[in-house]
Amino acid sequence: MNKNEIRKHYFQDKYVIISPKRAKRPQRLDTREQNQKTGKKCDFCPGGHVKKIYDLKDDAGNWDIRVVKNIFPALSLDNKYAYGKQEVIIESPDHDKEIYEFPVSHIKKILDVYSERYESLIKLDKIRYVLVFKNEGGKSGESLQHAHSQVIALPMIPPMIREEILAIDDYMMAKESCPYCDILRQESNSPRVAWEDEHIFALCPFASEYPYGVWFIPKRHVRSLHDMNQAEKESLAHAMQYIIGKLEALNLSYNYFFHNSIEGADHHMILKLTPRPNIWAGVELGTGIIINTVPPEDAAKFYRKGNKNISKVKRIKVKA
Ligand SMILES: [Zn+2]
Ligand SMILES: [Zn+2]
Repeated sequence: MNKNEIRKHYFQDKYVIISPKRAKRPQRLDTREQNQKTGKKCDFCPGGHVKKIYDLKDDAGNWDIRVVKNIFPALSLDNKYAYGKQEVIIESPDHDKEIYEFPVSHIKKILDVYSERYESLIKLDKIRYVLVFKNEGGKSGESLQHAHSQVIALPMIPPMIREEILAIDDYMMAKESCPYCDILRQESNSPRVAWEDEHIFALCPFASEYPYGVWFIPKRHVRSLHDMNQAEKESLAHAMQYIIGKLEALNLSYNYFFHNSIEGADHHMILKLTPRPNIWAGVELGTGIIINTVPPEDAAKFYRKGNKNISKVKRIKVKA
């Protein structure tokens, strides 16, 4: 079988992408030392072999952030059986830096590129959903070490997302307010606050499925990164730098992803960070009930430790 194909489960609302070519994608190297020993050139470094989409240049004219085609895509625009698009965002020319090691100004630039790629891909014909995400570390699905994020454009709204959208719509109908705006109010001053400033609230959710999981919620009801102003994006960059930097000390693999409002709806954008220390086993896979060994209150305490600014935050009233 040479062609990739999206297939739907017989009777459940589940999809699978059959993609034989993906077996050829590079395996993740376990450590930086190992990577250096191989002496193999990294394609995400300057001069690497990539299919460039565009470069964001620095003042000296060198690329700062680079958007490239995914060389081993499961989906492509020229395959009607596995239609979609995948891109890779190389976050820096520096091979050894992780996202939390970049200055806030550079992380903000990465957010601008996320926003630009989202807005560009969501406009493509027959594309219904676009996810911007990052895989970092061995258990998260990452296959290359050089700091990068990814974008996938899908021809359907994934069932998991649709389920969440329906729940949000039900909530909004019943309460005439946004669930995330309400969470901001309810959790303000709770022991689950991981980080906070005037614009961004970082929360270890009450029923977190992931140990040390964090939701980054903009305090203003925005639909996407595109709706955020410069100060809000800078706050988000700061929050990400701080929280991911803390997480690094635990040496955990993680993913993060942006859930933007779908077209035609007015849902609150949220960035979810999902560390992956636990291997899901029989209970999780057999029932969908996840066992999390770290209470969110303990996780939030871990994140707050050493952050003197958190108690000084000027709490602004959350707008509905
Ligand atoms: Zn590299
Ligand atoms: Zn809201």
